[in-house]
Amino acid sequence: MDCQNEKRGNPIGTPHILNAAEAAAQPFPLSISFNYENLFKIQRVRNPFVLAPVSYSSLASYLECPWCVVSQKRKKRSKEPTQVPPMRQGALFGGGQPDPRMVGTLLHTIVNLLHDDKGPLTPDKRARLLTDSDALGRFLRQELLVALQKAGKINLAIFFNEFNFHPEILHNTITTPILRYQRELVATRTTIFTGAERFQCKVLSTKNTFAGHPDWGGYVCLIGEFDQIRLRNGTNAKNGTPAIIEFKKGLGGKKPTPPPMQGLFAELEAAPVEENVVVEPTSAHAMQLLTYWLAFQTRWSIREQFVEVKGVLQEIPMSLQQPMELILYNLNDGCQYQLVPRDHQEALVALTECIFLLNWAMKSGYAWQSPEHTCKRAQLTELPAHAIQVQVGNETVTGQECYLLAKASFERFKSTIQWKKLTH
Ligand SMILES: [Zn+2]
Repeated sequence: MDCQNEKRGNPIGTPHILNAAEAAAQPFPLSISFNYENLFKIQRVRNPFVLAPVSYSSLASYLECPWCVVSQKRKKRSKEPTQVPPMRQGALFGGGQPDPRMVGTLLHTIVNLLHDDKGPLTPDKRARLLTDSDALGRFLRQELLVALQKAGKINLAIFFNEFNFHPEILHNTITTPILRYQRELVATRTTIFTGAERFQCKVLSTKNTFAGHPDWGGYVCLIGEFDQIRLRNGTNAKNGTPAIIEFKKGLGGKKPTPPPMQGLFAELEAAPVEENVVVEPTSAHAMQLLTYWLAFQTRWSIREQFVEVKGVLQEIPMSLQQPMELILYNLNDGCQYQLVPRDHQEALVALTECIFLLNWAMKSGYAWQSPEHTCKRAQLTELPAHAIQVQVGNETVTGQECYLLAKASFERFKSTIQWKKLTH
């Protein structure tokens, strides 16, 4: 073994993954980089806040409309109420159909409750709900309201309470999807490794990250949250093949036009509409899942590599090809789509470039407004394009150029996207 290899250890073969607590507790220096074929590197970070972290969601929003992100920096979140107020029937489903975003959030929250070991449900209770459909159905009808309140999800509890007046809508929009979710877990013998878990990692560029620009160095500290990580059984990996799951209620299709006001819910309860419309995941979904691929890398156990080289370890060579699935799960209809990029390396390099460029442009304050957006903007705040300069490596470009470069990287990423619809 030559000196170089000795220092870098062996590639991770059949990996072992760590949950957040284990990853944080691993007694290894945080400065160890995972090196992905010298194209980019990834590091764990313990305190990202000294590194000016950026959330994945703000980068994705910035790609869509810089103005929205830059102008909304200081917006405050509205507070959760502290209790469920007395009911006013029909007040929340006023348009005739429950707000699909709220339904999506509610479904996602129920899924999280079923797996949350810090939530209001005991381990025994969760185990029973996950294996017994009748118990789960009863829970949704009789106990969910209290569980939501105990979990501090008061807005959702208020929303859910409204279903009391619409048992058929409850059945179609909540009970059916949740029972389908549970049955699939049972049928595929899938283990839930973790749900709703924060991540933080540092993505570093190498001299190969930006082709032809050897000095575009730096890093981006990314923070975000995994919806769910599953382990598929019956595979070679030590504890199952990890599958990163992102839940989506809809897939970015058009909003349904509100039905006329007369007869609340009359039409909806009569027959489901537009069920035949097939909506594929978008490029934004692909970007999200592949960003999670990057973030997930900090969860590989490096104990074996570390012991093998007696702690003298700076970089661990990592493969871009890994036994890992990236899946978008539409809770509404149970459809799952796996992201299988046509060219994994091109997809990851283009995404990494895009993340760096978006981060630089966003931090420069460049705030172009997307013409497809209806966001309001005061004309006086417009700065001339050349007024904002961005330092990228040892070069200086305008904020606009930097953003356009990010867009170009994203286009390259888009050309790699390929979805496979999964059937169970
Ligand atoms: Zn906008």
